[in-house]
Amino acid sequence: FNATGSMRGLVTKSTGSWYQVLGEDGKRYDCRIKGKFRTKGIKTTNPVAVGDWVHFDVEPDLESAVIRELEPRRNYIIRKSVNLSKQTQIIGANLDQAFLVVTLASPPTSLGFIDRFLVTTEAYGIPAVLIFNKLDLFSDEGLEILADYKAIYERIGYPCYEVSALTGKNIDVVKELLQDKITLVSGHSGVGKSTLINAIVPEYGLKTGEISDWSDKGKHTTTFAEMFDLPFEGKLIDTPGIRELGIVDIEKQELSHFFPEMRALMNQCRFNNCRHINEPGCVIMQAVEEGEIESSRYDSYLSIYHNEDSRA
Ligand code: GDP
Repeated sequence: FNATGSMRGLVTKSTGSWYQVLGEDGKRYDCRIKGKFRTKGIKTTNPVAVGDWVHFDVEPDLESAVIRELEPRRNYIIRKSVNLSKQTQIIGANLDQAFLVVTLASPPTSLGFIDRFLVTTEAYGIPAVLIFNKLDLFSDEGLEILADYKAIYERIGYPCYEVSALTGKNIDVVKELLQDKITLVSGHSGVGKSTLINAIVPEYGLKTGEISDWSDKGKHTTTFAEMFDLPFEGKLIDTPGIRELGIVDIEKQELSHFFPEMRALMNQCRFNNCRHINEPGCVIMQAVEEGEIESSRYDSYLSIYHNEDSRA
């Protein structure tokens, strides 16, 4: 505690009305917030998010503590709220990297889904890593398809890893990637995200018991992100129930900036306001034709540009 009785801490859970904060004294506090906490330009359902550094007061006669101050964020990721209020939820703040766990089968992750995730992380300036799981299920043919998928993304600068959360194959490599970092882990349900986290974070399996405790305090608890300590230096943020990150505040004209392979070329288009859709002298369309830009990536660009749903 400092002279005014407040302590600095890291938010490890947030329901929108309750926040769990790991104080610098190493203890966890259940906090409410007091005052206005605004995120520039967006209306959010949770003004304070997992990964935020805050200052809070604990009053001895109160059961809970109160967050009074939010430190500026280095970055954050949001998603659209599931309800129709047009509000957004901040999933995590101050991230070093974001992992997307994907599978080519049971269930397959679509390239469109991967590309939307990557556009989001590009927009927020967060390095992204693709983790291809369920390696143990692949036949020789499957392994070839996997190699093709990986090539699409490695070529444009995204690190790709293949693992089996079930057999433990390459889990050591994932652990190394997590070392000393704050990592958000995302993925379609069924891809094995929980199995993977279980293999890395010992206390993750205990989560269920803890949640029932918390459910009194916010009915949406299970769909909110939560931060876990790794057994080595570093922290991991799980995003249960979060299907898709939001590309909420991206303007259409900016979209090509968030495709690295398009970003590299787009200054060479004949028109400097080229949308890369049907303009003459568009180097992007030419690059797609010549195979220099992957057509699946360009399809994702068009789909996002036209606001199409990726849920297919
Ligand atoms: P989540 O919804 O992404 O958290 O997925 P789960 O971790 O619950 O896993 C979904 C299913 O996939 C479970 O039946 C797991 O046992 C299975 N699974 C997870 N990882 C692997 C893997 O590497 N190989 C295989 N064969 N199955 C896996």
